[in-house]
Amino acid sequence: MIRLFIILSIFIFISPGEKIQKDSSSVSSPDGNIRVEFWIQDGNPYYSANYNEKEIVQKSALGYILKDNDTLTDHLEIVSTKNSSFDETWEQVWGQQHLVRNHYNEQIVHLAEKDGGHRSIQIVFRVFDDGFGFRFVVSEQPNLDSIVIMDELTEFNMTENLQAWWIPAYRDNRYEYLYKKSPINSLDTVHTPLTMERADGIHVSIHEANLTNYAGMTIAALDNNKLKCDLTPWNDGTKVKTKTPMQSPWRTITIANNAGELITSNLVLNLNEPNKLEDVSWITPTKYLGIWWGMHIGKYTFWESDNHGSSTNNSISYIDYCIKLGIDHLLIEGWNTGWTPAWYENKLHVFSFTESTGDFDFDRVSTYSSVNNVHLIGYHETGSNIDNYMAQIDSAMQMYQAAGMHDVKIGQVGSRLMMTEWHYGQYGVNYYRTVLEKAAKYQLTVNFHEPVKPTGLQRTYPNLMSGEGARGMEYNAWSEGNPPEHTVILPFTRLLGGPMDYTPGIFSIKPTHVHTTLAKQLALYLTIYSPIQMLADLPENYDGNPAFKFLQEVPVDWEYTQVINAKIGDYYTVARKDLNSDDWYLGSISGENEREFEIELSFLDKDKTYRAEIYADAEDAEFDKNPEAFTISSMEVNSGSHLKLHLAKGGGEAIRFVAL
Ligand code: CA
Repeated sequence: MIRLFIILSIFIFISPGEKIQKDSSSVSSPDGNIRVEFWIQDGNPYYSANYNEKEIVQKSALGYILKDNDTLTDHLEIVSTKNSSFDETWEQVWGQQHLVRNHYNEQIVHLAEKDGGHRSIQIVFRVFDDGFGFRFVVSEQPNLDSIVIMDELTEFNMTENLQAWWIPAYRDNRYEYLYKKSPINSLDTVHTPLTMERADGIHVSIHEANLTNYAGMTIAALDNNKLKCDLTPWNDGTKVKTKTPMQSPWRTITIANNAGELITSNLVLNLNEPNKLEDVSWITPTKYLGIWWGMHIGKYTFWESDNHGSSTNNSISYIDYCIKLGIDHLLIEGWNTGWTPAWYENKLHVFSFTESTGDFDFDRVSTYSSVNNVHLIGYHETGSNIDNYMAQIDSAMQMYQAAGMHDVKIGQVGSRLMMTEWHYGQYGVNYYRTVLEKAAKYQLTVNFHEPVKPTGLQRTYPNLMSGEGARGMEYNAWSEGNPPEHTVILPFTRLLGGPMDYTPGIFSIKPTHVHTTLAKQLALYLTIYSPIQMLADLPENYDGNPAFKFLQEVPVDWEYTQVINAKIGDYYTVARKDLNSDDWYLGSISGENEREFEIELSFLDKDKTYRAEIYADAEDAEFDKNPEAFTISSMEVNSGSHLKLHLAKGGGEAIRFVAL
């Protein structure tokens, strides 16, 4: 679909002239509820933040230590401050909300050293109604050319020992860990988004936006509820190597009255730059089948063998399933040379990205898919051998483009990139950006597995469709599996950065460690947002199952999203309106406990009647005993109706509201 991109409304107000101030300043959100204070004390910069007169962030340090123990920010004075307001509504290429309002008050604080080199630095604050962000900007200047950051001093000092949901940083499996819930004083060094709940119910989530040419931020817990930025190091111990002019990513703090408001906050997206891609007609939100789950459960191999998943014959049979099941995209993994039974081991594997295995005829499969209107999704497994990939990336992407393909999934399995650098250090950040920009040039969308965490870059590069970056479905094939609460934590943590390719939709649950009911698998298409969603099970498990109708129909691109109820780790119910019809959809999921809800359908359009098509857990369903038992029923409803939901242990419910 070709969409016309227009800024629907825009309003900028800059107060006349710059204010010269002594040693402090403040800026408030447009609604006045959030106020961020900034001040200089003994030459050092600090900030704090209030929400509705409650202190959210206490006095917290800001600044940098550069190479040779050179503190850039310890004898500063405020030169001037500049305030402005901004209000626009912009249109997403795809998303969980079609139109996004970007409304903030900004304050740029110009600082300079009082003596020595008189080096200058700016700190920019943007305060929104749902939180705030700030970044450091260092302009080109005579006494500051190359910059080697050894430490970013940014703190986030909380007022109490908040409960946090977190995964540890600096571990071999990247972001693929189960979330723990504990008070912040007991935290390890952790990844962001770091989501926390205060005793008064206010939720706070710390993350970053527009992570560009910089190290990813992890969070270290100090004493007394203090959290501090811990930049991911290079192998040589330095954090960021760059030149002026330099700007840091935005440090973001989302402030929500409840867990649900975290989901609908657009703070992180708004702190990214507008779409840089002029033509987006080739970007298609979609659902897809994959030659994938079969490899994880041991039915097929990634490598050439008697049961090779992506042999020509098996690929053609999957294309036939696409036609039969009405799904028009197919991912094929393991079609190229370089795969071995030990492909995932931590070493520099050498994959070819253009040469097929002896039993895979790329031209034949590609032609067969084209004539049947099935679009192939390509796969590049780098094995973290980045040099090997970068040497082939142009020819590899050209090959897909020439075959009429528009999508590629790219894997980075390995503990370190090139066995030396973290996936989320500056090396990794720059590598993923290079790949994303190259993919745009070849008109390919990207789905990164083993990625750097998402930071809202899909606004700038809408070909960044989705990513992994958490424990996905694959763990349910070959580990003890993800516990029922895992999918009730992900939307409030990992998903706050961007869409996730969790790969839901397993119907044949009993032989695996999928700790959900089948109805919950359906509901995951609503609760885990992604503009591309895999139908992850073997197609033969879908064929003939009446629940598959929901997966055929559920959209992946939304006009509007409304959270009905949410408690992190316990339950989550969300309603979304289809972008391309008048239909609404609802997904509700539970952790390990059984739940009953009575919900109002007031989100439905007021003047319409709907047929609710309800896919629910059967009365005797339970994730660990009877997961595949479900019921399908239908009833007429409108915006005045109430609906009772019953979720089994580890269960869920999925509803399509068809506008009549
Ligand atoms: Ca993975």
